[in-house]
Amino acid sequence: MKKKYEFETGMYRPPSEGGSASLLVRLTRNCPWNHCTFCAMYKSQKFELRSPMDIIQDINVMNDIYLQVKKISVNMGENGKITAPSIGEFLQKTPELYFHPGISMLFNWLAAGGKTVFLQDADSLIMKTDHLVQVLNHLKTVFSTIERITSYSRSRTIARKPVFDLEKIQRAGLDRLHIGLETGDAALLKKIKKGATAEDHIKAGQKAMKAGFQVSEYWMPGLGGNSMSRDHAVNTARVLNQINPDYIRSRPFTPRPGTSLYENASKNELERMTPKEQLLEIKQMITALDVTSRICFDHAGNYWRAPNGRLLLNQGYEGYKLPEEKERLLAIIETGIAGDA
Ligand code: SF4
Repeated sequence: MKKKYEFETGMYRPPSEGGSASLLVRLTRNCPWNHCTFCAMYKSQKFELRSPMDIIQDINVMNDIYLQVKKISVNMGENGKITAPSIGEFLQKTPELYFHPGISMLFNWLAAGGKTVFLQDADSLIMKTDHLVQVLNHLKTVFSTIERITSYSRSRTIARKPVFDLEKIQRAGLDRLHIGLETGDAALLKKIKKGATAEDHIKAGQKAMKAGFQVSEYWMPGLGGNSMSRDHAVNTARVLNQINPDYIRSRPFTPRPGTSLYENASKNELERMTPKEQLLEIKQMITALDVTSRICFDHAGNYWRAPNGRLLLNQGYEGYKLPEEKERLLAIIETGIAGDA
């Protein structure tokens, strides 16, 4: 009987996670919260946990594909390297995989050396700790080249997990957590229906750091409009100062189709900030930071231009290191404020 190669691949991963060179392993489907008013990512999709056996089966199928391509590569005299000719020959034998949503991802990952993995979808830590550990152990045993495993998780979920469980998960190989802070302002968190309080964010961030994870916190400049700008900036810095995460990543607010904030914007009922006002808010937030984090603008939404027409801010994944580069970063932002940005 002909072999069936079936495995699931979700839609999203953070840009900083290996570009197209990350293996995507789907642990859960969609978001268990799904109420944030700015977020269109998993709207109308039902959240589902996947069983450890189903996930392990996906990992085994991906490994099986790898071994098949490797064998072809050896037979072609290519020393088992994952190359275009060996992939081509494999796909000729398995045309049903041409349209598989995850096949290019898998080949890109293998060709790039199989180093980084991102666990999908929105909140992997919502899995039972033992199930997650079982999956991580299997993943690392099957693919010995893996150097880093990362995932999204919600503050509310992390805040509820015992530190002992978080440590167990970290020791099993999950290295980095990407957390959507959005804002540290209580009123704005409520308004956007984040489902987490500022205290949840602090507790989760501190616990994740204590358990040994690298923590990447995302905040959303412009989210509260001019009327909430000051509180948004100051309280976001206040929360981040108490976490001192490894990374603070800026994701400026844009109303996305399919969200209630987009509907408000189309009816002219949403307070929007100008590029300059957004930069003033960012300046205020960064000025109030007292952290040793890296501040990153690694997304096209950080679109401001310098007077010479180039991008104002470095969009690299490692960004600007605080406190060393704080004054330089603030000076750069000041040039954007002074110009047309
Ligand atoms: S928790 Fe994250 S994925 Fe879920 S709705 Fe909010 S922003 Fe979107």
